[in-house]
Amino acid sequence: MKTLGLIGGMSWESTAEYYRTLNALTRDRLGGLHSARLVLYSVDFAEIEELQTAGRWDEAGTLLADAARSLEAAGADLLLLCTNTMHKVADRIEAAASVPLLHLADATADAVRAAGLRQVGLLGTAFTMEQDFYRGRLARHGLDVLVPDAPSRALVHRVIYEELCVGTVREDSRAAYRRIIADLVAAGAEGVILGCTEIELLVHPEDSPVPLFPTARLHAEAAVTAALA
Ligand code: GLU
Repeated sequence: MKTLGLIGGMSWESTAEYYRTLNALTRDRLGGLHSARLVLYSVDFAEIEELQTAGRWDEAGTLLADAARSLEAAGADLLLLCTNTMHKVADRIEAAASVPLLHLADATADAVRAAGLRQVGLLGTAFTMEQDFYRGRLARHGLDVLVPDAPSRALVHRVIYEELCVGTVREDSRAAYRRIIADLVAAGAEGVILGCTEIELLVHPEDSPVPLFPTARLHAEAAVTAALA
């Protein structure tokens, strides 16, 4: 079994789910008392959020590159960055470590393609929905990506940072996300990517008329497959 190296804490609410899912999947696949072999480097998310808001991505990249080096020194064979947004600096992590990074957008695109879909909606932080580092990567896998209109993007972003990242799950926010998903489906989305690792704490399959692609779950599944290969 390979040792997974997790760069987490962004937020820890979703990293805790990664930890649980990686262990549960490993037990499901190997049985008995088996659990995932992993090391976790968990950051202080307040520092990261400040750098994001100020557009200081280079400093955030330096911080995460240091985390990647620490994980490799601790024995990680494969790195997971447990946030979609910070894949904006994935190249910094790849350059810092000699072990591979299992890219979240690649794991997600593989799942969408395996489901036979091409046109998908994308929910995530404003950075993820609006910038090319994530949408472009999905497009290179042959996906057509639809995002909500500007007011809906602002709502989705606000709920992530003000509610989900601090462990708050609200019914009215779930209802708002359901409405936004319905709008994406009306615009032609055949499935919807939950492109922020906290959204799956709020939105579940019954909230959508089309298949959902929960990125933390898909990332964990791909990681366990790679760890046990
Ligand atoms: N965990 C979130 C994501 O998957 C957002 C928090 C962050 O900015 O890292 O994008």
